[in-house]
Amino acid sequence: QVPVITLDGPGGAGKGTLAGKLSTWLGWSLLDSGALYRLVGLGALRENLSVDIDDDIQRAADQARALDVRFIAGDDGQRIELAGENVTQTIRQDEIAKAASRWATIPAVREALLARQRTFAAAPGLIADGRDMGTMIFPEADLKIFVTASAEERARRRHEQLSAQGEPASLSRIYREIVDRDTRDASRKASPLKPADDAYVIDTTGDSVTASARKVRDLVVA
Ligand code: C5P
Repeated sequence: QVPVITLDGPGGAGKGTLAGKLSTWLGWSLLDSGALYRLVGLGALRENLSVDIDDDIQRAADQARALDVRFIAGDDGQRIELAGENVTQTIRQDEIAKAASRWATIPAVREALLARQRTFAAAPGLIADGRDMGTMIFPEADLKIFVTASAEERARRRHEQLSAQGEPASLSRIYREIVDRDTRDASRKASPLKPADDAYVIDTTGDSVTASARKVRDLVVA
């Protein structure tokens, strides 16, 4: 059986960065499950699918099951290709994030992505980054980590990131959006966001990336 380490938690807690560092450090492959939901969101937007129409849900689930995605490791993170098209930047857009989080509430889509996500477990090991990696997708994982940070801190980080990209936005609006998304993620019926019973919880509020990475490393070597 392939060893798996899961990293779950809300958006902006820093798990993507930590998962990337772990994957490089251990030489294990990386599953960015959020990207899969974003790809489903992208496909649905392009085809104008609605979460309120049964045929559309069926179509989105079929696409999710057959998702032709490739994650290609590079020096500055990974490139994501959908059927050969480079969609790395496209799927980071706010519009796609919203579509992803809407389609993530649909049980047929989550079900379709279940088996697809498990196919990423390959030797020598897998780092799985998401919301339900430890609870639903890899319940037998060797190590489960739940990464969290206060909503204020996550809003601040997002605000900094947008400013650095030359897209200044209001901090209070970002904060409200984060709180709204937390509420939606925690209250949805299909895989609500919560730590697995056997997960270690790491709070990165006030930590530098180096400090959080050290906490994760201490868990891995223990
Ligand atoms: O982590 P990221 O922001 O890329 O995830 C996009 C959306 O996909 C999240 O807002 C969340 O609703 C959903 N998601 C999920 N389960 C996962 C990963 C992401 O529901 N394992």
